[in-house]
Amino acid sequence: MGVVTVTRIVLACDGCGTTFGGPVGLLNPMEARAAAYAEGWRFPNRLGRHGELVSATSDVCPGCIDDWEPRERAPRQREATYDELREWTP
Ligand SMILES: [Zn+2]
Repeated sequence: MGVVTVTRIVLACDGCGTTFGGPVGLLNPMEARAAAYAEGWRFPNRLGRHGELVSATSDVCPGCIDDWEPRERAPRQREATYDELREWTP
């Protein structure tokens, strides 16, 4: 039996960790961010090593954006947690 792994994108806020796009997820990061933008998510620039703004961005939910301060690093891509998969499974 062959196995095909399917990867879909769910955004996680770099501030509070809330997610956008579950349970099915979106096709790619650009599509996910476009859909999230329509729901109030924003993608402010991050800080570089010397405190300068760089082109890389954070993913920030509507609840966090008003008090957002640029950060140097964003959390790395991760696998969905077991609890998230349980929550998103119909
Ligand atoms: Zn947030």
